[in-house]
Amino acid sequence: MNLDSLYQEVILDHAKHPHNYGKLDPHDAHAHRLNPTCGDTVDVYLNIDAEGRIAEVTFSGRGCAISQASASMMTDIVLGKTMDEAHTALRDFQGKMMDREAEFVFDSEDMEELEALQGVRQFPNRIRCATLAWHTLEDALSEIDDSQ
Ligand code: ZN
Repeated sequence: MNLDSLYQEVILDHAKHPHNYGKLDPHDAHAHRLNPTCGDTVDVYLNIDAEGRIAEVTFSGRGCAISQASASMMTDIVLGKTMDEAHTALRDFQGKMMDREAEFVFDSEDMEELEALQGVRQFPNRIRCATLAWHTLEDALSEIDDSQ
């Protein structure tokens, strides 16, 4: 199996069987975003514990496989992490979408799955699909920053 079809498989698997899918009720923060070019939507829900860690994170949404797979991967990566770590992972992912050679600062095995999304870099419109969940996470995190 070549690398492209392996990556394809990772994306389709997350899209069909999304991790941490659903609504969190109650939640400390919630954000919603739409990617109008593709019609994708993502909602992100967060609960933060007393130490400032992301104790619970879920997403719900609709749209293309890339947008939903990226959201599923994102929840795996930030679950149990501090908000600072989540910001670092977010910057890493955004950097990687701009430059394939960029090194990850945030050290986590789950980050490796993000390699599967690198194929979309050649399609500028699909980059929005891949980054949608991360922008939504950023919105949800800033809601918490604002409330502190
Ligand atoms: Zn899309």
